[in-house]
Amino acid sequence: MEKGRFGKYGGQYVSETLMQALIELEEAFERIYPTSEFQGEFKGLLRDYGGRPTPLYYARNFSKLVGFKVYLKREDLLCGGSHKLNNALGQALLAKKMGKKRLITETAAGQHGLATAMAGNICGLKTEIFMGVKDIQRQATNVKKMKLLGAKIKPVKTGTGVLKDAVSETLREWATCSRTTHYLIGSTVGPHPFPTIVATFQSVIGNEIRQQIIEKEGRLPDAIVACGSGGSNALGAFKPFIEKEDVKLYFVEGGGESLEADNSAAAFQLGKPGVLHGSLMQIMQDEHGQIRPSRTRAAGLNYPGRGPEISYLCETGRVKPCYVFDHEIFEAVKVMGRTEGLIPALETAHAIAYVLNHKEEFSKDEIVIINYSGRGDKDIETILRYFYGS
Ligand SMILES: *Cc1c(COP(=O)(O)O)cnc(C)c1O
Repeated sequence: MEKGRFGKYGGQYVSETLMQALIELEEAFERIYPTSEFQGEFKGLLRDYGGRPTPLYYARNFSKLVGFKVYLKREDLLCGGSHKLNNALGQALLAKKMGKKRLITETAAGQHGLATAMAGNICGLKTEIFMGVKDIQRQATNVKKMKLLGAKIKPVKTGTGVLKDAVSETLREWATCSRTTHYLIGSTVGPHPFPTIVATFQSVIGNEIRQQIIEKEGRLPDAIVACGSGGSNALGAFKPFIEKEDVKLYFVEGGGESLEADNSAAAFQLGKPGVLHGSLMQIMQDEHGQIRPSRTRAAGLNYPGRGPEISYLCETGRVKPCYVFDHEIFEAVKVMGRTEGLIPALETAHAIAYVLNHKEEFSKDEIVIINYSGRGDKDIETILRYFYGS
């Protein structure tokens, strides 16, 4: 396969001015990542700062309810409360080794912005975070946290003032300052080499799963279920199992309220291949190729595109693309709380809801792993409003 391509997906659809930065990044990643110095520092930070390895927890009560064994890969216990830090630490460390002085990125819910601000501080890099004006209003708490850490927030007013506009703005900014600045992309999206870099840093999740499930069960799991939009937590969990055809892989996206136009974020159901943010991938678009707005209650899944590798794996049938609706995720939050005493992020609740509502797809002697991508603290207002009103 051509470098940076996953089937027809991927590539580098960027302006001339960005090509040099992408070539430099690819070269640096290939040279620096395998060194024992980088590996030692990265693993040390993941362990002592991040709290890795995260546990693989046998959810006994939840398992009893569904009728088969379910394990949760506890990325909610990673520092910051989601899987985002794995990638942020990796890229920040890489940027430092490349001699960069500053990180830029974008964020919607704020989880990735926060992880970048944390990683930037550890590596001594200034951090600037582009955020749609609508998202700044909606995510006031995370905005304050990022400011507290010293990150600069750059409001984006263009377009509709949401994530996709912030990504476009960050790419434009990067073209003007890539000599000193690294664009720390937060998911397996964007032009090559970003999807590969992010998946590599996140694959620590899957490598731990493999070791932990063999220790606990003496065999590989029958299925891994992960939520996603760009695909970073899913690919991170799936990576070591892609060649193991007996392990079923499920990718659960945000169905939103219904599968009608503008009410959903289910790009595998409603989208088609197209170019967005430098890469050919599955995207929600109208008949003129204009990006259609996505909608889901889970801010972290509210992106109209699916990264090139997950797009490819779904196209070939290796990964099954699925979706659940908003009402199902709130119910899943409640069930996880009542059975295991855990409050998941609304994104994570998609993977849980899928397992709960598709029990018939699994048999009683199967082992299913849910990649528990994050904790629900950031969503608690939304969850409480749903159940108890304001
Ligand atoms: C950001 C986020 C996601 C979605 O991002 P992916 O790159 O598709 O994994 C899922 N879960 C949580 C908790 C997140 O913060």
